[in-house]
Amino acid sequence: MWGAAGALAAGGFASLPRPVRAAYGGGPTMTPDEALARLMAGNRKFVAGTLKATDALAERRADVANGQRPFAMVLCCADSRVPPEQIFDQTVGDLFVCRVAGNILEPGGLGSFEYAIANIGSPALLIVLGHQNCGAVTDSIKLVQSHQHAPASIQAIVEAITPAVTATAQGAMSAGEYTEAVVRANAKLVAHETVARSAIVKKAVGEHHLKVVAARYGLDSGRVTLLD
Ligand SMILES: [Zn+2]
Repeated sequence: MWGAAGALAAGGFASLPRPVRAAYGGGPTMTPDEALARLMAGNRKFVAGTLKATDALAERRADVANGQRPFAMVLCCADSRVPPEQIFDQTVGDLFVCRVAGNILEPGGLGSFEYAIANIGSPALLIVLGHQNCGAVTDSIKLVQSHQHAPASIQAIVEAITPAVTATAQGAMSAGEYTEAVVRANAKLVAHETVARSAIVKKAVGEHHLKVVAARYGLDSGRVTLLD
């Protein structure tokens, strides 16, 4: 998989069969800063309740039926209250999204982003979006602190969030404040890991084609806040 993606990236789009090549868009359609500005402008519309992106949905669907050029990638929680297209006021074909509880970095998720970078080529931004009162984070904190395990495959999520828990001292924080601190730490850690664990992501960032940022979504305000 890695080799295949690398070969495609090295060979460029000319190495793809013609129908496939026609389906992909080539390089980024905007700079990373422009992509971030577009997402944040979309979030301001979401907060204000003035969503526009899906107004011409049928036309947009037809436009992208034969190829996609998503300008940004999003890794966010599976939580039903965190739908990225709505939060950022974008529509079909705009965002390349992986969702999993706790917005953790799994091999399939990282491979998906690598695929988008190497084979689609258009995303200029990867945003790792944690959120207020994340249940996966709250439960992981409880399990880590009580030295217990979650049942079945839920434990894999707990183990992925554990580094953010152990790296964050609770001190005098209340349980709610501590959950918020770990949500932020986890998003930043995952953003860092996407670069550290992937030569494809690292190369795109090094060439300034891609920026990776961490952010936090407020369930009550609807507002996305970038994390340092
Ligand atoms: Zn969550």
